[in-house]
Amino acid sequence: MTSSAPALATPFRLFEVRLTKRTVLSPTFVRFTFTGPELDRFADNGLDQRIKLLFPAGDGFATLMRSPDDWYTAWRGLADEERPPMRTYTIRAVRPHENEIDVDIVLHGLVGIASTWASTAPVGSPLIVCGPNADFDAFHGGVDFHPSARTARILLAGDETALPAIANILERLPTDARGCAIVEVPDAGDAAALPSHPGFDVIVAARPSGGSHGDALIPLVQEHAARLLDRAGGTATSGTAGGPAGALSELEDVDIDEGILWEVPNDESGDDVPVYAWLAGEAGVIKALRRHLVSERGIDRRSVAFMGYWRLGKNEQN
Ligand SMILES: Cc1cc2nc3c(=O)[nH]c(=O)nc-3n(C[C@H](O)[C@H](O)[C@H](O)COP(=O)(O)OP(=O)(O)OC[C@H]3O[C@@H](n4cnc5c(N)ncnc54)[C@H](O)[C@@H]3O)c2cc1C
Repeated sequence: MTSSAPALATPFRLFEVRLTKRTVLSPTFVRFTFTGPELDRFADNGLDQRIKLLFPAGDGFATLMRSPDDWYTAWRGLADEERPPMRTYTIRAVRPHENEIDVDIVLHGLVGIASTWASTAPVGSPLIVCGPNADFDAFHGGVDFHPSARTARILLAGDETALPAIANILERLPTDARGCAIVEVPDAGDAAALPSHPGFDVIVAARPSGGSHGDALIPLVQEHAARLLDRAGGTATSGTAGGPAGALSELEDVDIDEGILWEVPNDESGDDVPVYAWLAGEAGVIKALRRHLVSERGIDRRSVAFMGYWRLGKNEQN
């Protein structure tokens, strides 16, 4: 009899879960607690660790769980009506000893597969989560917060979809980290979903009623970026805030209708960095923020991580 070698652990794997609890955190956020027999093998990396939620479609779940090592090939091969739609989220908490995870989901109405599911799914509903595999013994990927070890000030900015990641980052940063976190949310009550940090100014601003995404966030980031640069010893307006040769960086345009707005530097140089910025949220708003920080404030583009978490008027798969 021949024995086959055990399959090598992959960085990400599928977990079958069931919804066990929904906890209303604030007017916009609901915390979904899931349990699953193998969640003790879900790696707890914190920060902005991203995951995929797969929603039910026909018998698609059964097909995917029959091919756990090569599920993506199986997923692509499924007929449209059998292929579980996927959406990207941030893992908010991992409790391996209780076989539980939490995901905080924005209810943005009965539009979109994820928001509709989150608004209507009863406790007990099945889901598949693609998340980091604790049996994989190296960097899993899917964490994009990588400041230099010698960063003086950190700027975290985003909308409600980035709030879970910003909350995780604040919880994992050492107490001697310094910076500012600015989050734009639909409702002032959403501030309850964000923790404090002793070294951070944490600012939660409600979007003005009838306003657009970015109306609160953009002016706040402009104001606080200048202040952070001053405190970090950079220059708020001269373009010498860690930029190469003191020159304001020219940015190529990113067409957010066609491409994905995503650039995540990983500075392992050990150089002193006055300000590291982490920006996530609606792509058009994030593009404007990045332009301000790099082109107008002169922050080195190698110290600015920017991520279009979603695009106004487009679903995640378009
Ligand atoms: C790395 C990463 C991490 C993320 N983490 C989280 C998280 O922890 N919690 C969370 O709630 N979201 C998070 N998001 C955002 C989430 O993936 C998107 O909001 C997603 O589009 C929601 O899917 P849907 O099926 O509800 O809507 P879709 O089918 O994708 O879109 C349908 C329509 O709804 C609009 N839409 C999508 N999201 C929003 C929104 N938030 N507000 C208003 N309109 C919207 C779209 O523009 C589109 O017109 C994250 C995204 C990324 C890339």
